[in-house]
Amino acid sequence: NVKANKGRRFEFYDKEINTLSIQKYELQNKLRNALSNQEFVLHYQPQMNMATNQIVGLEALIRWNSANGMVPPASFIAIAEESNLIIPLGEWVLENACEFGKKLATLGYQTPIAVNLSMLQFKSPYIGDLLQSILTKTNLPPELLELEITEGILMDNEDECESILSQFHAMGIQISIDDFGTGYSSLSYLKKFAVDKIKIDRSFIKGIPHYDNGTIAKVIIELAGNFNLQVIAEGVETPEQIDFLLKNNCHIAQGFYYAKPLDEDELLAFMEKSKRDNG
Ligand code: C2E
Ligand code: MG
Ligand code: MG
Ligand code: MG
Repeated sequence: NVKANKGRRFEFYDKEINTLSIQKYELQNKLRNALSNQEFVLHYQPQMNMATNQIVGLEALIRWNSANGMVPPASFIAIAEESNLIIPLGEWVLENACEFGKKLATLGYQTPIAVNLSMLQFKSPYIGDLLQSILTKTNLPPELLELEITEGILMDNEDECESILSQFHAMGIQISIDDFGTGYSSLSYLKKFAVDKIKIDRSFIKGIPHYDNGTIAKVIIELAGNFNLQVIAEGVETPEQIDFLLKNNCHIAQGFYYAKPLDEDELLAFMEKSKRDNG
């Protein structure tokens, strides 16, 4: 046994793994408690029509409002996925986002809300029933709900993915591909699957126009056009990026240039201001 022969080294390695799994286990417990203590919140980032400055959509983004401050999703989504906690957590996100979408609609803002769906949720045999029951319960018109999935989710078992996506579509829900261009999937799914929108990953927007001539962004915009898909640029931070995107036929953007993800009150203020500015 090679490992055993390494003696002390192996012991050390084993201990480290142990510490790691204890930390993970503790974080999983904390997340579970946080969920039952209602410590999660959704922030909403506006999606803008760059030509008209109108708000055309919102993305719901989860944060953990912990005793030690606001924790970003990068610090806990992966752990929640590993421990299956993403199922109840994702359910909480869907229900709260739909509830808020309905509230906005009641206030006169018919703005679609995009929710990120993780692989486990997408593949759950109950996802269709869950979505239907949340739409019924919150009374949100299904066309105001959009689900964001990554290319990775569509990689295995095409038939299964196709039937799940058609089910969403039959319910009237919109589908968008998040972080487009960063996955390894074949592009053939664009013609096979019921998809409405692609989101150009932030990494392809970042250098425009200085360190990068925007070649990949241009190709993605053209691809979207050929498949009759809407296209949205993620991570737009500068007026130069906006000029470039508009010139190249991409009209929708989400990024810090317009707004960071906002809490409900901040978002309402942003929407009111935007309505006033647009007359
Ligand atoms: P994402 O879905 O690609 O969300 C966009 C991320 O980009 C958000 O980070 C947003 O704050 C950030 N962003 C937007 N505009 C800009 C910009 O102009 N510059 C920069 N530097 N960043 C920008 P956030 O909120 O930290 O979320 C990170 C990721 O966590 C999300 O990426 C998504 O994959 C995941 N996530 C967030 N909420 C949920 C959720 O409810 N469920 C699941 N499964 N995943 C979630
Ligand atoms: Mg997203
Ligand atoms: Mg993204
Ligand atoms: Mg992402």
